[in-house]
Amino acid sequence: MSGKATERADVCVVGTGAGGGVVAKELAEAGAKVIMLERGGPSARLEPHEPVVDGAVRIFSASRALRTEVAWGVPPMPIIFGRCVGGSAALNAGTCFRLPERITEKWVTRHRLEVFQSAYLEKLYVHVETFVNIHEIEPELIGGHGRVFRRGIEALGWSGGPVHRNARGCQGAGACVVGCPHDAKLSPNLSWVPRAIEKGARLLTRCRVQRVVVKRGRAVAVEAKWHANGGTGPAQALRVEAPLVVLAGGALGTPEILWSSGLGGSSGELGRNLRLHPGVVAGGLFDEQLDGWRGAPQSYFSDQFMDEGVILLVGSVPPPLGCLLVPGFGETHKQWMSRYSGFSDAGALISDSATGRLLRGPGGRPILTYRLVEEDARRLHRALERLCRVYLAAGAKVVFPGFIGATPARNERELGEVLTRFGPSLPRRRLVGGSLHPMGTCTMGVSPESSVVDPFGRVHGVEGVYVADGSILPTSTVVNPQETIMTLATHIAWGIRDGAHA
Ligand SMILES: Cc1cc2nc3c(=O)[nH]c(=O)nc-3n(C[C@H](O)[C@H](O)[C@H](O)COP(=O)(O)OP(=O)(O)OC[C@H]3O[C@@H](n4cnc5c(N)ncnc54)[C@H](O)[C@@H]3O)c2cc1C
Repeated sequence: MSGKATERADVCVVGTGAGGGVVAKELAEAGAKVIMLERGGPSARLEPHEPVVDGAVRIFSASRALRTEVAWGVPPMPIIFGRCVGGSAALNAGTCFRLPERITEKWVTRHRLEVFQSAYLEKLYVHVETFVNIHEIEPELIGGHGRVFRRGIEALGWSGGPVHRNARGCQGAGACVVGCPHDAKLSPNLSWVPRAIEKGARLLTRCRVQRVVVKRGRAVAVEAKWHANGGTGPAQALRVEAPLVVLAGGALGTPEILWSSGLGGSSGELGRNLRLHPGVVAGGLFDEQLDGWRGAPQSYFSDQFMDEGVILLVGSVPPPLGCLLVPGFGETHKQWMSRYSGFSDAGALISDSATGRLLRGPGGRPILTYRLVEEDARRLHRALERLCRVYLAAGAKVVFPGFIGATPARNERELGEVLTRFGPSLPRRRLVGGSLHPMGTCTMGVSPESSVVDPFGRVHGVEGVYVADGSILPTSTVVNPQETIMTLATHIAWGIRDGAHA
């Protein structure tokens, strides 16, 4: 490590994702001297006219903007997240949902988070939705894959609708998850972070925060390791002196910093309550030309099973990524792929009743564990069946339930046989799960005995340290979480701005 630098600010924001970006913008606009420290590099995106596969290789491997950790259990759950300016949202699908009312009610009644009363929540939503232009997807962006999904939902008489998205000027490139080539998706790197900079905030990338320094029970600084010159420079120790520190390193990143700082641990809840919002995927093959890579990747949803904590969402991706969902090997795979323009894929996400855990492994390296409980496995099994039924109702010639050992099915009878081949419920090890939405680990609550932060985002037991990211969500959101995270981060930033708890 060469050299040591010291910076000063009113507020140091750690992480620039859906949580950190919002806080930096709101506080910089309020006149605070803000510094943002981001572990990853500048956000990468597909170049216009660049082949998707080249862009994906560059972004996923060379710039290492998209990372995977595995939560160990049965089945092992890969967790995918972003490490770049804008965080995971820089590489997400841009789908936005308000938190379902039944979850808000639960947070107010069971978790006593009274701040989420409806009038105040409405004000927060409108503020966020206006700034990043969250609106119902334009009909022409629904694409062929959404068209058939909608047809199936309507044929079954299930509830649903077009999704809302945070975009402006979307041209339907279908490449949100490799970074929009037209900068249309208003992720934090293209909205909250640039506005914060415009208002005087500073941003240091390739800067990994290691700990918060506390004196006499108050935050005084953060210590970080920073690589100057866009990451090519030698590692340098950086100290940012600030009386307010807002941690927004995400559900996997924030606990690590709190552990190293000896903060947030008194309840024993730090690192616990990890929700993965696990999902399953199924596909349908149609005689029609759908060209699922055109239009917005996610365009239509069904909330028919919301009371069971399940949401169904259509989501197609360009062929070089979508091929991973097409069955078979060698010649068989090639034959299915030759019909790719007739494919539509959809996923189902369940609000998990089990919780996983983030532990400190040797050398401080995080270890994740997660055990899918039987009831959640059963809900995923039912969700697979429902996704396939949507495609059959829409006229699919063949459906593909995504689990290990599945074979394609041409009708409801064959589907029933495929889904019960391994018993009345699918063994957990056969589920091909995964998570794009880790939540929890630093949960928000009233009592210091059972939560890590209070209802204003303050870490219990210390002054001047806040958390504002997906780690504070007290339960799973059922729906995709980015709008909820942005909304909560706005609430926390406004509390700091207004000195509500100075
Ligand atoms: C492929 C994909 C698709 C998705 N699609 C959707 C979608 O369509 N809709 C939706 O609602 N949600 C979606 N999500 C989830 C959503 O993007 C995330 O839930 C949300 O962005 C999380 O925000 P966050 O601020 O909590 O954390 P993150 O976005 O993970 O941001 C944390 C940031 O902190 C940085 N950081 C971590 N540790 C440190 C440290 N020690 N020092 C400095 N910086 C640090 C990280 O590099 C990162 O940039 C998707 C996620 C993925 C991966």
